[in-house]
Amino acid sequence: MNKYLQDLVKLSKYDSSISMFEPKIENEKAKLSTFIEVAEAIKTSINDTYAHIDDVKSKRTKNNIHLAELKTKLDDISRKHNEVTNEKEVKALQLEEEIAKEQITFANEEIERLDEIAAAKEEELKELQAKLTEEEESIKEIQIAVDNAIDEINQERNVVYQQRSELLEKFDNKILTFYEKIRRWAKDSAVVPVVDQACYGCFMKINDKTYSEVIKSEEIINCPHCGRILYKEVETEEA
Ligand SMILES: [Zn+2]
Repeated sequence: MNKYLQDLVKLSKYDSSISMFEPKIENEKAKLSTFIEVAEAIKTSINDTYAHIDDVKSKRTKNNIHLAELKTKLDDISRKHNEVTNEKEVKALQLEEEIAKEQITFANEEIERLDEIAAAKEEELKELQAKLTEEEESIKEIQIAVDNAIDEINQERNVVYQQRSELLEKFDNKILTFYEKIRRWAKDSAVVPVVDQACYGCFMKINDKTYSEVIKSEEIINCPHCGRILYKEVETEEA
């Protein structure tokens, strides 16, 4: 095979495998991202629950203040009972007392209700925190596996980069420019084998004359249909 063509086939194979590394890394990272998303959703729920508990506690405080005011009011009323002089004033005081007592009952009921909500929310919080811990443990495990896989991919990538740069050291500049131009549109299929007398890039049949030239491998032959560089796949090379 023509030495330049041989170099082109090698270079194209290196470039194709280099292109494959980034998607492989992305694929590894994707394994983690679903777990991270779940953990983030749990964190949001935890924050919401904290906010809810704070809200309930502040309502409870307000009710406690109101309760203290009502008790002071009751004390005032009972003091006033000694000062009233007529039936009308007694009735008015009694009414005031009744209303205050009713409000105390309401406030106590409200505090009880709020305490129940707070207790339920605290329980919810505990469950969420347990879930988050579990999720974070999983993330740690997966992170290690993913990091190892990415390390391995990077090592493989470095080997190919190394081989590629060694190849380029003795590469013909004109041939390289020629290849890069085709690669701009053909991407990783700039150099393709001929399979069943068809270009493996555009899958069109090539004529007998071109095919025999490809088989001879004495020159660099382009596909007459698409312009990709063609070569005859050698069995041993494939293996
Ligand atoms: Zn073609």
